Amino acid sequence: MSHPRIIPPALIALFLLAAPAFAQINTTQTVVPGVYFHEGDPRRGHSNNGWVVFDDFVFVIDANYPSGAQIVMPKVKETSDKPVRFVLNTHHHADHAYGNQLWADAGATLIASTAALEEMKKVETGFFGGEPGRWEASAMTRPDVAATKLKPPVMLFPKDLILDDGHRRVELHWFGTGHTRGDAYVWLPKEKVLFTGDACVNGPSNNVNDGNIGEWIKTLELVKQLGAEKVCPGHGPMGGPEIIVDQQAYFIALQRAVKQLVDAGKSATEIRDAVPAIATELKKTPNIARYVMTNPTAHVQRVYLELGGQVFPK
Ligand SMILES: [Zn+2]
Repeated sequence: MSHPRIIPPALIALFLLAAPAFAQINTTQTVVPGVYFHEGDPRRGHSNNGWVVFDDFVFVIDANYPSGAQIVMPKVKETSDKPVRFVLNTHHHADHAYGNQLWADAGATLIASTAALEEMKKVETGFFGGEPGRWEASAMTRPDVAATKLKPPVMLFPKDLILDDGHRRVELHWFGTGHTRGDAYVWLPKEKVLFTGDACVNGPSNNVNDGNIGEWIKTLELVKQLGAEKVCPGHGPMGGPEIIVDQQAYFIALQRAVKQLVDAGKSATEIRDAVPAIATELKKTPNIARYVMTNPTAHVQRVYLELGGQVFPK
């Protein structure tokens, strides 16, 4: 029998610093030979990136913010002397698309799903001839955004686009609405590697404001059927198929918790006030605990709206 040990606080601090959650930030990880994953720094709002080396070029997954692109560009060069010819925006959000200009200036063609461009047109009204939109708001607080220009994707695919040079095959798929209407997945069928954009994250960073949680659960069901063995999420560390399973399980549990309150006839105020109790309850399930934010009001609100509820009173 082992004796209980007292662990000095300094050691605990050291362990926390080295904890997997932050250990891989801003480092290049080889997913399989020629396929790389780079975990972005959440403290700077950066998304994750991926890239795939083909015979003659490199395909990059997500543009990141301009400051994120500046970190990733030299790292891509460290792994390959081939030019970056294509950059995919997995969706239209700032941290996945605002770095576009840097990649385009370096010679890349910007790709996205047709729906991702449609979403961009709705929120980037400043670029598309209307009132200032999200980009202008972001430029007020981010010098890296202010120093560049919005550059929308130019090569669009409604459902699928395949890059195949005879050695390497990368499939871009649109499976339906999830994190946004335009979510694109990057699937390497031979290697069974999947890049999900923010349709899957690995930690408490789900942004549901442009999504539909009910549709998201259904879309992830299709995504599970790919049979991915390595999953590279939009935020948080990479892992295996459990990322898809747990992400979906979190939304199912969240939806169920809110529906119970709706079915019990609770008011909008009562449901809003139940958010801390919902969070505590969800944290009890080990495989979804990491998805529960300190304050998941936005998640509960989104489900409530989808179930026919109203905006929570202030
Ligand atoms: Zn996003």
